[in-house]
Amino acid sequence: MSLEIRQFLMGSDNFGVLVHDSETGATASIDAGDEQPILQALAQTGWRLTDILVTHHHDDHIAALASLHHKFGARIVAAGADSHRIPHIDLAVKEGDEFTVGTLKFGVFDTPGHTVGHIAYHLPKQKVLFAGDTLFSLGCGRLFEGSAEQMYHSLQKLARLPAETALYCGHEYTLSNGRFAMKVDPSNKALAARMHDVETLRAQGQFTLPSTIGRECDTNPFLRADQPDIAKTIGMEGQPAVAVFAKLREMKNKA
Ligand SMILES: [Zn+2]
Repeated sequence: MSLEIRQFLMGSDNFGVLVHDSETGATASIDAGDEQPILQALAQTGWRLTDILVTHHHDDHIAALASLHHKFGARIVAAGADSHRIPHIDLAVKEGDEFTVGTLKFGVFDTPGHTVGHIAYHLPKQKVLFAGDTLFSLGCGRLFEGSAEQMYHSLQKLARLPAETALYCGHEYTLSNGRFAMKVDPSNKALAARMHDVETLRAQGQFTLPSTIGRECDTNPFLRADQPDIAKTIGMEGQPAVAVFAKLREMKNKA
């Protein structure tokens, strides 16, 4: 196995992730919101940055792009659809595209919702997903640009990946997401057990990520909008899953 992953905090709750191919030494940063923690993680690992894979254009994901691009000559991969607002794109990608970082073969999913140009990166062979601000542990991104329907379909796409797929995302929001999840899915035993684990991990100062797609399908209310129990709890009994999802997202905004 030539894949190594280093996860670290940037600021209060943004995650930085370095993806390293030990066979060739190639190293990709998933997004680049803050230069200092990325430089520190590179120094600690001894890895040299070769690529930056951008999930979306928000400043807390791209603020350090230009500087790291110049410092390392790192290739910047990002959605072609966002070329007007993500600087220095070397490789513009879209749904279904494939590219390599060293020997690691990445696939791309279009995941509009949080922003219309948002994409997720997937290592199908190693079964790892980098979901940015689309899918969080026990939650999902806010709808800044896309519709609830777009986000629902983006999340469904990710939920269809193999259950054992490791999930990395842009933020450590699991505890607050989980408190909301417990309110809308109170009878879910897997969720209650997960929250117990999450509280223990956070109390010890540890990360709750990576999660897995299977665990999220069992516990994340935003992937469970088709469950009658959830619909009933939020007063949407008999409504289509996408409408239940929209209501959940709205409730979370106000929570
Ligand atoms: Zn964002």
